[in-house]
Amino acid sequence: MNRCFVSALLCAVGMNAVTVADVPAHFQQRAKVLLADSIALEPCEHQVNVIYFVGSDREPVADYERRLSELLLYLQQYYGREMARNGQGNRSFGLTIKENGEVNIMLIKGKKVHTHYAYGSGHNACLEEVNRYFDEHPELRTSQHSFVIMPTHYDEQYNDLNPGGVPFYGLGTNCFALDYAHFDIKHLGQNTKEGRLLTKWYGGFAHELGHGLNLPHNDGTASQNAALGTPLMEAGNYTFGFKPTYMTLASCRILANSEIFAPVGSTIKFYSNNQEPTISSASFSRAGEDTLVLKLELSPEVVNVNAYVQDPPFIVNRDYDAVAFACDMGKAANGNTTAEVNIPLAELAELKNVKGGEMALDILMQTNEGSRFRWRVPFDLNNAPADSSIDMGKPVIWRGY
Ligand code: ZN
Repeated sequence: MNRCFVSALLCAVGMNAVTVADVPAHFQQRAKVLLADSIALEPCEHQVNVIYFVGSDREPVADYERRLSELLLYLQQYYGREMARNGQGNRSFGLTIKENGEVNIMLIKGKKVHTHYAYGSGHNACLEEVNRYFDEHPELRTSQHSFVIMPTHYDEQYNDLNPGGVPFYGLGTNCFALDYAHFDIKHLGQNTKEGRLLTKWYGGFAHELGHGLNLPHNDGTASQNAALGTPLMEAGNYTFGFKPTYMTLASCRILANSEIFAPVGSTIKFYSNNQEPTISSASFSRAGEDTLVLKLELSPEVVNVNAYVQDPPFIVNRDYDAVAFACDMGKAANGNTTAEVNIPLAELAELKNVKGGEMALDILMQTNEGSRFRWRVPFDLNNAPADSSIDMGKPVIWRGY
């Protein structure tokens, strides 16, 4: 308990407005410049567990604490600015900050050699050991979200200029990324081998962290992409730091209702309710030729609804281009939640695989304790003439993201 209190305090300290003088003196000059105009972020109740995991035969890459702290603090600012731009306040993911200004990165040495924790399935053995670590040190666990970073393998295939070999993906509230010698913010945006490599792996780091913080893939609308660039949760992992990369309102709404963004004092027991929401009424129609209209009335615990329009196939990891729309949320007289959104067909221009008019509408419902539920409604635009309603079928709802 004490530790949580201390962590919250540390987090609050780390989240005050940062000036050049506040950036730790031992950070490198580029980090000082990049962090100099940091926005003041609201203090968080919970922090991401940041873990550096190495096999029993490996050591961390040199200077990992400073390098990763600089990268994490800059990323925290990026998320904070995108939340603010999307009207969600100066809020970002909580990090535990040490007295020297670095992020508290927990070093866990695996019981087996590094090849035991390789890309593909090595995350299982890793997470088992991480969970055991937290069972033994419950005071160090600051939330249900863990961000695990492993050093690249060094073998005939992988090295510091071609890092890899370790898990690199998001799985529920856990996500995995990697570290290598040139993983250093000084290369950000540089048109050099190290700079292009940094965009790939730092963009990936930012994107995987998004998954670990509850975010699904999504694309922006055609007009948002024209104005703002590439969404982080689309292909932003290939543009971050090099070309304009943004977060959609739909992504930021999910974060705003997630554990790691909860403000200090929050008593919400996140992800504790397995009860799926009730849908009192739902309508989906084509208004005129050019617009789809979704209207829902849902049980009161639903606080956020996003609508994603996707082209086939409707499967995991083929959803990068699902165009995201955040619904207008309201309350009905009976206390139920209402959600409504207009989807202009012109905004779906980037859906590339529409065959005929076949699409799916994914309705993501988020409850007041952060859980996400989905209802997928396949439909065919060719069978939806102007000013007609679209058959939504019987709701089949599943938990997940
Ligand atoms: Zn992804």
